[in-house]
Amino acid sequence: MTTQRKPFKTEVQQLLDLVIHSLYSNRDIFLRELLSNASDAIDRLKFEALSAPDLLATDPHPKITLVPDKAARTLTIRDNGIGMNAAEVEANIGTIASSGTRRFLAELKERKGSSLPELIGQFGVGFYSAFMVADRVVLHTRRADAEAAAGVRWESDGSGEYTLEEAPKAERGTEIVLHLKEDMAEYLEEWKLRKIIKTYSDFVEHPIVLTTPAEDGKSAPKEETVNSQKALWQRPKNEITAEEYAGFYRHLSHDFDEPLATLHWQVEGATTEFRALVFIPKSAAFDFLAPERRQHGLQLYVRRVFISDHCEELLPPWLRFLRGVVDSGDLPLNVSRELLQDNKQIRSIRNNLVKKVLDTLTEMKEKEREKYETFWKAFGPVLKEGMHLDAANREKLQELMLFGSAAKAEGALLSLAEYVAAMPEGQKAIYYASGESRKALENAPHLEAFRAANWDVLLLTDPVDDWVMQGLTEYAGKPLHSVTKGGAADLPPVKADAATDQPAASEDEMKPLLAFMKQHLGEQVKDIIASRRLTESACCLVADEHSMGAHMEKILRAMHKDAPPTRRILEINPAHPVIRAMAGLAARDGQGTLLGDYTDMLHDQALLTAGQPVNDLLQFTRRVSRLMADAAAKA
Ligand code: ADP
Repeated sequence: MTTQRKPFKTEVQQLLDLVIHSLYSNRDIFLRELLSNASDAIDRLKFEALSAPDLLATDPHPKITLVPDKAARTLTIRDNGIGMNAAEVEANIGTIASSGTRRFLAELKERKGSSLPELIGQFGVGFYSAFMVADRVVLHTRRADAEAAAGVRWESDGSGEYTLEEAPKAERGTEIVLHLKEDMAEYLEEWKLRKIIKTYSDFVEHPIVLTTPAEDGKSAPKEETVNSQKALWQRPKNEITAEEYAGFYRHLSHDFDEPLATLHWQVEGATTEFRALVFIPKSAAFDFLAPERRQHGLQLYVRRVFISDHCEELLPPWLRFLRGVVDSGDLPLNVSRELLQDNKQIRSIRNNLVKKVLDTLTEMKEKEREKYETFWKAFGPVLKEGMHLDAANREKLQELMLFGSAAKAEGALLSLAEYVAAMPEGQKAIYYASGESRKALENAPHLEAFRAANWDVLLLTDPVDDWVMQGLTEYAGKPLHSVTKGGAADLPPVKADAATDQPAASEDEMKPLLAFMKQHLGEQVKDIIASRRLTESACCLVADEHSMGAHMEKILRAMHKDAPPTRRILEINPAHPVIRAMAGLAARDGQGTLLGDYTDMLHDQALLTAGQPVNDLLQFTRRVSRLMADAAAKA
């Protein structure tokens, strides 16, 4: 291979331009990123060496070396890890998964430059952060299982292109030489490097050795291991400071914030032995919900040997927001994927973990409500999935759910237990409304009578809520009902119009009207009944108890466009002046076109308030005009 000159992918270049030209609050993180790559490379080597011990034969001691050279203004980061071959260099360094990058760039535009360092970390474009401090970067690497001649040299100044060439390398691993920008010379200072390592990389398992020239300039250079290297989770809890925990969390999660909660415990049981250090983040990474970022799980170590980065078997998907490490004392070192998938120890760790996390959240909810609400707002929609997926933990999970409610101010949250405790006498069921937003729900006519009776209604606005509620038909002996479904039979019947106090049309007076409307609307509705849930509006549509809610139907129809609409029940308010007048009309003349127009208008109104289109827009406007002309002529 001769020297090849290659352009960066457009998006890589855009990213580099941003990294190079924007202003940052914190450039120090470039070193954290490169040290973390070096440490990962050593972990990977150690893992491969489990089945190929020869890889470690000549150079058995993993090490990361840092060499500042003031004369040359270069900072070198060297590791004796797995290294890369030419194809890997090209795949890993010249390109980045483009869908991710596109979103990253879009996000940057929105947030401007200020939070760039956090985003760089979150996105795993760590290597490029080298260009925050260097105007030329040379990477020289050789894969551990290849001949010296197979070494590769990659070089770029970050503007448009990079070069790739063969370059024999005697030692395995990767060396990165940063030619520092003129004003970045502070990254050659020992104190500065020491400080960054202590802050960000102290717990890196492998020694980070700072090499500096001897004072006299003649003897061998000074070598000093700067990081304490002790795997944090192996240390006793009471010896670890909050800063150390936070530092480790940042290293794992690439989050810039502190964790919301830190769980550190160990189990030495009859069936299993492990240590776990698990963090609950404060907020979801901005791309948390993106499908391609759905990898979850914890890092798995076996007796301090790194095994896997996202061990999904350790966590159910509804806890995928957790970050952390599990170190097992009794799994075999050569665990394979297959073994992990059906393993007694892993299952037992997972059960213990789930219990620990749920207990922690339960306690947080009881003792630190505000903190818990922060958690719930960030990850409630994920945790709720467990209601559906994990029957064994449903009872604990239902206590952890919080909802907004119609009686409470926007932003206030309520648990099911709190809702039940506040139920007035006479109310038998727990009522909820589900929809896209609080605003839409608050304005729904279905809530009117509940409001009048002082019965609170839970407002469910997460897309998963309808699905979750299917798994929850009862709580504390009380059935759960959607206000847009079924009869609401425990509501008192409507006696009079709220505005005028005129008495409602009686059951007998309603009969001819209901009969006419049923005949007129025919198949368009499932039934027409006198409502108990309306006090202000004239009408609304409800689903019968066992059919799908309107919101759920909308979601499904968005996915399968041809799904037929479910027929709804049209409820009309016997106290409303329009209905009373129509009842009178129906009693006198059950057949008139006027009554037909009114009936269609009511149905269309009900469709519109339910967020559905009217059946025939042209007919609709004609009817409105006809009725307006009538009324205007009489005015
Ligand atoms: P990330 O580390 O988040 O994947 P980077 O841009 O920092 O993103 O690195 C991209 C990839 O390049 C890494 O995933 C790894 O495969 C490879 N890489 C980076 N540094 C090294 C190194 N020192 N040794 C071996 N491979 C490396």
